Amino acid sequence: MEADEGRELGGFRAEVRAWIAANFPKSLVDMSNPMSREAMAFPTPDQEAWRKAVGAKGWGTPTWPTEYGGAGLSRAHDLIWRDELARARAYNPIGGMGVMMLGPTLLEFGTEAQRRQHLPPIVRGDLQWCQGFSEPGAGSDLASLQMKAEEVGDAFVLNGQKIWTSGAQWARWCFCLVRTDTTKKHDGISFVLVDMASEGIEVRPIKLIGGNSSFCEVFFTNVRTPKDQLVGRLNGGWNIAKRLLQHERSGLSSMGEAALGRSLKDLAGAYVGVDEQGRIADAELRARIISHEMETAIFQLTAQRTAREAKNANGPSSASSIMKNAGTRLFQDRAELTIEILGYQGLGWEGEGFAEEELTSVRDWLTGKATTIYGGSQEVQNNIIAKRILGLPDSLSDMKA
Ligand SMILES: Cc1cc2nc3c(=O)[nH]c(=O)nc-3n(C[C@H](O)[C@H](O)[C@H](O)COP(=O)(O)OP(=O)(O)OC[C@H]3O[C@@H](n4cnc5c(N)ncnc54)[C@H](O)[C@@H]3O)c2cc1C
Repeated sequence: MEADEGRELGGFRAEVRAWIAANFPKSLVDMSNPMSREAMAFPTPDQEAWRKAVGAKGWGTPTWPTEYGGAGLSRAHDLIWRDELARARAYNPIGGMGVMMLGPTLLEFGTEAQRRQHLPPIVRGDLQWCQGFSEPGAGSDLASLQMKAEEVGDAFVLNGQKIWTSGAQWARWCFCLVRTDTTKKHDGISFVLVDMASEGIEVRPIKLIGGNSSFCEVFFTNVRTPKDQLVGRLNGGWNIAKRLLQHERSGLSSMGEAALGRSLKDLAGAYVGVDEQGRIADAELRARIISHEMETAIFQLTAQRTAREAKNANGPSSASSIMKNAGTRLFQDRAELTIEILGYQGLGWEGEGFAEEELTSVRDWLTGKATTIYGGSQEVQNNIIAKRILGLPDSLSDMKA
């Protein structure tokens, strides 16, 4: 039985390797940030061809059920697919919030009609979703959100504002938390899906210091969304939101895994130089790179273990908060080390004196700062770890009680 399984996996590896060789455009090898929101919104013809090929196979969402377009693969097959992508210096072109957050949430809480409507376009990568959670007065304390949804006939009518909505200017749909009962806090929140082309939605991109706009303010004025776009029960949205955030955190934790492109060791060899024994010339930097690589390896093993545990437990748990904090911190460490290695070349923002790889590193370093804020800040994850995993009291008043 085990030998059969090994042969079957070996056959699958050969199939995947041949398929990637035949379909992955050479122009995309080692492409930096191919899955940034901008790159997904404005794809090149080669990126578009790769997305369509993977989408049609269902391999972009390898473990999702086949009835919604996924490949229905086991975790072992999924690992092989990822492994072969890395080997070919390729990437999975199906991603974004639909894959990372909404899809798994609909598989757990959605109606059959919602799954059939929304999952296939996500599997094909045909459209992007955005997340309408945060509001000007509701960030870490998300349950104080105020955006209202009132039942009128066969629809909900939405009024209010969301903020920091990443990619809202390019998203076709939004999953939103709305207030459907003003007399209760957590138990007055519902989870609804909204077509961003609906009348009454105004998206205002927020211009950042670097000139780009990765997130937006979104204003809703009498926006109608049909009642069949309510996920779960009325006023039952908080539990669904918590679950979705676990999926988000577990997805964000993958930032801790080794990045595409050159390793720190290779970069240091090129920019700092090597000594007569072929080691990175700067001993202190060498020690820090080794320590970072060891932590990355430990993180990857832990991530594999928690992914296995999550599968057995039918989804991620509060442990996703530990992994989010660890993964994003590793991402920031790597970005910091990269800038140090690049030296003067790590100070460029634009211009001819800087290579593409150098400019990307500077942007990664700055983007890295946000990773410990979005998806719930590092401090809030520490609170979740303290309360739900370590069982510590909620606050000083609890300690006195
Ligand atoms: C790049 C980026 C993209 C984002 N994209 C989205 C998106 O697509 N959709 C969306 O809905 N939101 C998005 N957000 C918003 C994000 O979820 C919030 O910024 C985050 O939850 C923190 O909320 P806040 O900014 O209101 O900060 P606040 O809640 O005001 O927190 C300010 C500071 O106080 C700390 N703090 C707050 N409460 C506690 C506490 N109880 N204990 C200890 N410390 C505390 C926080 O850790 C933080 O350091 C994005 C944010 C960023 C930076």
